[in-house]
Amino acid sequence: MNHATAPAPSASLIRTEVAGLPGYDPGADPDTVAALSGSGRVIKLSNNESPYGASPAVAEALRLALADGVSRYPDPTGRRLAEAIGTRLDVPADRIVLGNGSENILELLCQAVLDPGDLVVTQTPGFSLHETFPRVMGARVEKVPVTAGFGFDADAWSTALAGGPKLVFLANPCNPSGTTLSAGQLEHVLAATPESALLVLDEAYGEFARLNPAYPGHPADPEHPAYPDALEALRGQDRPWIVLRTFSKAYGLAGVRVGYGIASDPALIRALDRVRTPYNVNHPAQEAAIAALGDQAHLADTVRRTALEVARLTDRLSGAGLRVVPSSANFLFIDTGNPADRVARELHRAGIIVKAWREPGFETYIRASLSTPEDNDVFVRCLTEICAKGKP
Ligand SMILES: *Cc1c(COP(=O)(O)O)cnc(C)c1O
Repeated sequence: MNHATAPAPSASLIRTEVAGLPGYDPGADPDTVAALSGSGRVIKLSNNESPYGASPAVAEALRLALADGVSRYPDPTGRRLAEAIGTRLDVPADRIVLGNGSENILELLCQAVLDPGDLVVTQTPGFSLHETFPRVMGARVEKVPVTAGFGFDADAWSTALAGGPKLVFLANPCNPSGTTLSAGQLEHVLAATPESALLVLDEAYGEFARLNPAYPGHPADPEHPAYPDALEALRGQDRPWIVLRTFSKAYGLAGVRVGYGIASDPALIRALDRVRTPYNVNHPAQEAAIAALGDQAHLADTVRRTALEVARLTDRLSGAGLRVVPSSANFLFIDTGNPADRVARELHRAGIIVKAWREPGFETYIRASLSTPEDNDVFVRCLTEICAKGKP
């Protein structure tokens, strides 16, 4: 598409903050890649979706929800879903917000809290929307780099947090690295975050760490402490906070769009309700999420199978001489040693879609979601072949 020459009629209307945004990169389009590869089969490893799908109970819930008819608006409060989440987490439903994906809640938080010029602190490499939504509001975003080993840089975080942010976005596990913060590191963030700031812990991949029986941080192993229970750590804190989770990743519901947040206090939820579009989570989605939440066995099975593949692929790729960041999520961040864009294009020819990283300093990295063992084998074979050829 190229409409280059004359400025579009709308050009002068667009706010400077918006015109300057990079735009979300969803990865290559599967139909385009299918046509390119000629095989007709695409292995999509670009969006951290579950290859194991949702619980079978979800299909039944969706069938019933559609049989009810779609002519009525959904429950604007999502009461049944919020209560189901609240019961599971022992949190009152009035401290829970539902979103059209947790991305929706990231956006609502920015709308409710940020004035132009406010400071937001987050991590790099990181999740693009932790930067995009603040910038839409005219906020400044400071991105704290990870250490050379992809660890949490406590000193750098202390310095950034001393700058007086209004909002702090921290993903645990991190996307794209898949690394986790320990309880001690979380304590460090809590101690260094001004009490006037809203602390947002994005646990989109939390289930993969929390429920993984072989989590690198086994509680009995002092070198690798357990994945921290953020709700427990935050419970006694006299400060504003919100923990975000989603049905998109481990629950396998990315297509229906449901996320939720657990907040420090009902007043924060009421503020989000004021900026939220009232029917942001549709009726079939609410029903699907309730069904998914009710099938914890399916969730545990997804986490167990994913963890096996994370360990297996980390070994195989490391064995082939590639640097793979130790991941506690459902994806791997891999240094291909070559320009990631070119590696990604070569993978397209084999029908494989990964995300080529574009953040400065990481342009040789790709992020690849784990799929089924069969798909993962194809991916490993193609990637090692491409990288073995040397600089493409
Ligand atoms: C995928 C993801 C989300 C949210 O996804 P939704 O589908 O909108 O719930 C949030 N944060 C991070 C870091 C993610 O990777």
